Amino acid sequence: MGEVMVHLQGVRKSFGDNEVLRGVDLEVRAGEVVVVLGPSGSGKSTLLRTINHLEKVDAGLVSVDGELIGYRRRGDRLHELREREVLRQRTHIGFVFQNFNLFPHLTVLENVVEAPVSAQRRPLDQARERARALLARVGLSEKESAYPRHLSGGQQQRVAIARALALDPKVLLFDEPTSALDPELVGEVLDVIKDLARSGTTMVVVTHEVGFAREVADTVVFLDGGVVVEQGPPSRVLDDPQHPRTRAFLSKVL
Ligand code: ADP
Ligand code: MG
Repeated sequence: MGEVMVHLQGVRKSFGDNEVLRGVDLEVRAGEVVVVLGPSGSGKSTLLRTINHLEKVDAGLVSVDGELIGYRRRGDRLHELREREVLRQRTHIGFVFQNFNLFPHLTVLENVVEAPVSAQRRPLDQARERARALLARVGLSEKESAYPRHLSGGQQQRVAIARALALDPKVLLFDEPTSALDPELVGEVLDVIKDLARSGTTMVVVTHEVGFAREVADTVVFLDGGVVVEQGPPSRVLDDPQHPRTRAFLSKVL
């Protein structure tokens, strides 16, 4: 495993008087696959969203590849970055949502080409070539001219993964990528994520798929009540959990 790619230190986040993250520390190394498990409402989505500054933290720091996210340090003070600087940072952080969030009016190929051309100003023919390679990788070459509404949920999610990869992200974040899918479509999406994991993509995956976590994760993080209750290799956290809350959670989902 490589250098630290994502680093959260003491991250806190409240919505009104609901403190959702209560001091989260997390390190993700280059090439590492971190799977985040935890009950509904435990702060998993909020945690992911702080990594690309979709949620602004109340306290603590987030950095990706050594770069502070959302802020610039001047002397001993932090200054919030301008929107366009935050957008630039986000181009290095891939995000795959539960509900795919494809552009409905664009074809599959156009969906994958859009960000590299508009955000990174890559030449269109080069972006297309790369997009086709990514669509081949997720098994959707023959669908490049289709519109999202004509694809199954599993196919749409695979397009969303190709789209996230098109910017060559430093880290790929997945927020319950299979929970909106019919059960028979879950496997094809997990297979794509497994393939990425094997090829050394750095990722943080929020999921309830414990089998997937066991097979793919280098590190499993169990989040409950806005704190990391337990973390370690799957063999420890899943098969020999130390904390009663981890045990209680696993006994429900397994
Ligand atoms: P999880 O993904 O683990 O289910 P979330 O991070 O989505 O948990 O939510 C944690 C808590 O934060 C929940 O109580 C949720 O209602 C609250 N929450 C999340 N986002 C917002 C928001 N934008 N405004 C108010 N409350 C929010
Ligand atoms: Mg969530």
